[in-house]
Amino acid sequence: MADTTRTYRWPPGMRCAVAFTSDIDGESPYLWQHRDKPIVHVESLDQRRFGPRVGIYRLLDLLDEFGVKGSFYVPGLIAEQYPRILPTLAERGHEAGLHGYCHESVAALSAAENMAVVEQSLAVFAAQVETRPRGYRAPYWHMTADMVATLLARDFTYDSSLMGYDHPYVVDGLVEVPVLATVADTTYFRCTGGPADKTYPPDPGQVLESWIEVFEGVREFGDLYTITVHPWIAGHGHIVRMLRRLFEHIRQYDDVWWATALELAEHHLASDNATAYKASLRAPDARSFGAAGLDVSAR
Ligand SMILES: [Zn+2]
Repeated sequence: MADTTRTYRWPPGMRCAVAFTSDIDGESPYLWQHRDKPIVHVESLDQRRFGPRVGIYRLLDLLDEFGVKGSFYVPGLIAEQYPRILPTLAERGHEAGLHGYCHESVAALSAAENMAVVEQSLAVFAAQVETRPRGYRAPYWHMTADMVATLLARDFTYDSSLMGYDHPYVVDGLVEVPVLATVADTTYFRCTGGPADKTYPPDPGQVLESWIEVFEGVREFGDLYTITVHPWIAGHGHIVRMLRRLFEHIRQYDDVWWATALELAEHHLASDNATAYKASLRAPDARSFGAAGLDVSAR
């Protein structure tokens, strides 16, 4: 295959990159979704608590098996309720980034409210660990142009929530380390045993086959393979085993750069890539399209 289809510049000898990322949500999304109504289904809270109780430590042990450093995004509330998490990540050499205070959707809050959430979360990190977080992942991957400005104002290096390229880029002045919805546990394995489930749990072997195929596509075109998992889902044994087999597959290549999201962002800024890939989140007002004769009202 001609190299002209591979345009992103990785460190010498590297053809593509892999980032292991994990959002330590615990019960925080459920609390956010019930912020104005009483919680009746405490079993849903308890299911999610498996992540910070047990799941995260299984994932950390898996990373140790392979000598891989990951990027973990931790809501401030979860860091407070499970105070072992941030110090453990620091001790074991992983990156920790912000993920809201109570997993708030930034699209639901004003710019001032989002700034307050960032400040509150930074204060939790400062109280527990020495290293200041440099990265951010938006809860639900909901991002706004205002939030990018807020992160820049607080000296964040990167966000990791978008999918506008399949390698790092710059969006409105902030480095973006993109995610892949096709390699996220929530896409396949989220299962609460209730009517909210969209499908039955899939065979991990079939998901592994799919995730390997996505990786092979990433490697062929020289892109970034961002794995996103949640300890309350992926901390269960069958998914840990599936991830181990995925890592073993990737490990057969010596031209794959395993990096944290922060390392990817820093590489981006220090390379020719920094000026080559730029985007903006400023959206057009789609309501104005009607004036051009396009009837969007019925769609
Ligand atoms: Zn989350």
